[in-house]
Amino acid sequence: MAMPFLLEECAMAERVLGFAEALAVVLGEARGAATAMVTEVLALEAAEGRVLAESVRAERDQPPFDRATRDGFALRANDIGVALRVVGQVRAGERWSGPAVGVGEAVEIMTGAPLPEGADAVVMVEHTALEKEMLWVEAGRSLKRGENVVERGAEARTGAGLLPVGRLIGAAEVAVAASCGRAELPVFARPKVAIVATGDELVELGSNELDDAEIYNSNSHALAALVRGEGGVAGRLAIARDDRNDLWERVAQGSMWDMLILSGGVSMGKYDLVEQVLAEFDAEFFFTGALIQPGKPVVFGRLPKRGGTAHPKDGKWTGEWTYFFGLPGNPVSTQVCFHLFVAPLLRALAGRSVVAPSFSEARLEEDVRGGAKVTRFLPAEMTSAWDGVTVKVVGWQGSGDVSANARGNCYCVLPAEVEEFAKGEAVRVLLR
Ligand code: AMP
Ligand code: MG
Repeated sequence: MAMPFLLEECAMAERVLGFAEALAVVLGEARGAATAMVTEVLALEAAEGRVLAESVRAERDQPPFDRATRDGFALRANDIGVALRVVGQVRAGERWSGPAVGVGEAVEIMTGAPLPEGADAVVMVEHTALEKEMLWVEAGRSLKRGENVVERGAEARTGAGLLPVGRLIGAAEVAVAASCGRAELPVFARPKVAIVATGDELVELGSNELDDAEIYNSNSHALAALVRGEGGVAGRLAIARDDRNDLWERVAQGSMWDMLILSGGVSMGKYDLVEQVLAEFDAEFFFTGALIQPGKPVVFGRLPKRGGTAHPKDGKWTGEWTYFFGLPGNPVSTQVCFHLFVAPLLRALAGRSVVAPSFSEARLEEDVRGGAKVTRFLPAEMTSAWDGVTVKVVGWQGSGDVSANARGNCYCVLPAEVEEFAKGEAVRVLLR
């Protein structure tokens, strides 16, 4: 590569933000990015894991009739002190066809059946006794009007919103949609994310001839899994060497997707060229570093999206920008930065309304030394039990230690400048 290029680009302004500030920038961008979304209609089963593009509304009152919530007897609540005549039975799925339930009468009723006209409550079968074909309610029991009955429309009136736009469709949402008779749901198209690993030391899986100084490209695969987990379509592009032309080719390819995630090449090394090459694509940099560890050199910005044939098959654009992240190459840094910064924007591009990273609180199982000048995210193992949530930092060899990362299930957050965190103290935990 020609030297003048490097010298010229060294003047590029650095923008290193505190952690909270960097996250606020991502979340601000996420709010603005969630426009002009493409939608498609999928069968209910296929819509699972996708994001709802139109609200689901009650197509009729729910419940559609006054519904018994217990097996028992429908009657008039005022009548329970006397012997009652059982005048019939109504099962779930049936309607009571007899005359209105009168004073001194009861109708045997099953859970889920419509309350017969005239009755205003249901007494549980466990609280009754039949004596000489007359029904008695257990002595000392009181019964209120409406007891063991859910009134028509009490859950939702016709037309009421049950599921909002932007809701991730899981089992609970599938249940609501199905209860409204919806066999299909409109969902947002998935954002397309190009993944580019950079580095001269990287070798693609499938090659058995690894030199001592070479390593497998694990980041592309980890990132693809993370992208899919957040509702994106992941495309692993070929490894880019630490060479301006190679990187240029790959960024050119990546700029046809909704998002481009690069790993490696964003540190201070002589061959860390990612930022310079992105700048050649009229990139707008929102930040070029965050005061976190691991992951300090993380880069975030956007560049004008280019049309072309390399885009995935359906060729739908979801916006005019290609957002990019340059993540540090060390695998733990890559993953921490994904959870903190990439995931929120990706969720927004996928149409979700709740996008921020998830934090929890846990009590430390052991003392932890602090004192760093930056916010730290240490691989840790969280245990959620009935009597509370605890967390233990796992032993690791730094941000290259991909297996220590896998031994953990979260990241313990240590705020900057605090010297010591004592056993039993509550700390924040970044969930993944
Ligand atoms: P870099 O951020 O380019 O300075 O990379 C830092 C270190 O992360 C490298 O020396 C590698 O050990 C490791 N690394 C970089 N890229 C990858 C990758 N794609 N897969 C696994 N490890 C990587
Ligand atoms: Mg590198």
